[in-house]
Amino acid sequence: MIVILLGPPGSGKGTQVDQTCQKYNLLPVATGNILRNLIATNNICEKSLAKMMGTGELFPDEIVNNLVVEAINNNVCNADYTYKNNYKGLLFDGYPRTVGQAAFLENILNKINKKVDCVLVFNIPHSMIVERITARRVDKTTGKVYNLISMPPPPEVIDNLIQRIDDTEEVIKNRLNIYKKQTEPLIEYYSKSNLIKNVDASKEFEITEKNISLALQEFV
Ligand code: ADP
Repeated sequence: MIVILLGPPGSGKGTQVDQTCQKYNLLPVATGNILRNLIATNNICEKSLAKMMGTGELFPDEIVNNLVVEAINNNVCNADYTYKNNYKGLLFDGYPRTVGQAAFLENILNKINKKVDCVLVFNIPHSMIVERITARRVDKTTGKVYNLISMPPPPEVIDNLIQRIDDTEEVIKNRLNIYKKQTEPLIEYYSKSNLIKNVDASKEFEITEKNISLALQEFV
């Protein structure tokens, strides 16, 4: 099963990745995390690229596409196109983000006789987004994500929490504009192949989790 999570920043895609991947045995491919790791380990040496993350701009398609090919190649056996490590499929979070990336993904999946099964669109009123993202905090050691309002961190991790550089109100506005211009057209793109399933992502974690299970039940 190949699933794509699509939705604006702050719609809760990342929060649902772990449990969805565990439940369906999927490999997570989260390009935001992959890029943050590269920046943290200085593998991306061009300063301009690291800066891009801080302003909310998208990375060039070519860079992100290559990282995704690497993630797929590492986890799909070439000989019979089955997955390594008992994975039963892939879950994309934050990719594709442009129509160019979507076309590229289709192409590489084609080459390994696979295709996207479902695109889950996380729907949330834009008025909730800024509130959600500015309350987001990340444990800098474990990478675990908390929300000061809806998912409060336990007292023992408070000193270890950081705010992502792109989680400030000003940068969020830019990220939302970019989402509207460059990523939202993917809803129409995937509608043409009937792949879209809408998920109400405005409620608590458990309700969104249930909505995801309902949307995916026909694929398992
Ligand atoms: P969000 O919380 O906005 O969904 P992510 O963690 O997915 O954030 O991504 C953070 C940043 O990483 C993006 O704002 C962008 O700069 C970069 N990025 C992540 N995925 C992609 C992609 N598919 N194409 C281009 N840039 C990306």
